[in-house]
Amino acid sequence: MRPNDPSVPVNSADSSEPPVVRIKELSKIYQQGEINVTALNRISLDIARREFLTLMGPSGSGKSTLLHIIAGVDRPTTGHCVVQGVEVTGLSESQLADWRNQNVGFVFQTFNLLPVLTAFENVELPLLLTRLTSKQRKKQVLTALELVGLADRTSHLPRQLSGGQEQRVAIARALVTDPQLIVADEPTGNLDSNSAHEVLDILRSLCSDAGKTVIMVTHDPKAAAFGSRNVHLEKGELAP
Ligand code: ADP
Ligand code: MG
Repeated sequence: MRPNDPSVPVNSADSSEPPVVRIKELSKIYQQGEINVTALNRISLDIARREFLTLMGPSGSGKSTLLHIIAGVDRPTTGHCVVQGVEVTGLSESQLADWRNQNVGFVFQTFNLLPVLTAFENVELPLLLTRLTSKQRKKQVLTALELVGLADRTSHLPRQLSGGQEQRVAIARALVTDPQLIVADEPTGNLDSNSAHEVLDILRSLCSDAGKTVIMVTHDPKAAAFGSRNVHLEKGELAP
């Protein structure tokens, strides 16, 4: 059974709609001097709304590269990546920046919060690039912080929060523009198991309750078990 076979029914995903992510024959080759490194080799994969897709595989197998291309942070060498009907590979740099801000929330292993800003201000950052008024921004920030269970930590600086709380702030920041797609690169890699569990519960409920699509890279089979579908990358190819 191939994970990219569109005839395969997907757990808890809505297969009556077109896929949120459609990847076709996607390759990425990095040139390092004389040497070509094939990070992705002709990957094809569809990901549906409400799917919580987990991406596993050894170090260097191309997981982050695939995530970056889907999120419009990096570009493929050849092939197609269509997200919600938009061919991401065809966008210019400035179109891509706007598209990313509206359509994708990114969660990192190391949280990447700005240390001098409060939780509220960190979550508000992506909204400063929109036309929302400060009142509208405040409403959305508080909604996002409530969703991750941190409505009582709005004025805290990152150093005044636990690692798990910092990651929940980062998830609120990823959510605050209400993107369809959330991508997370080893989001529990720096967390203890209780905090990891809280973060994974939130990601799972974003799919099941809020109808988002989540793609998560992880090394941890316990974390992968929270997903609705797991795919493995091996040397830049999807393992059958
Ligand atoms: P993973 O996330 O699975 O550990 P990556 O996607 O980071 O793997 O990397 C896949 C392959 O591509 C590796 O061989 C890595 O060395 C190479 N690679 C990743 N990014 C770059 C880059 N910017 N320049 C050159 N090679 C890269
Ligand atoms: Mg990686």
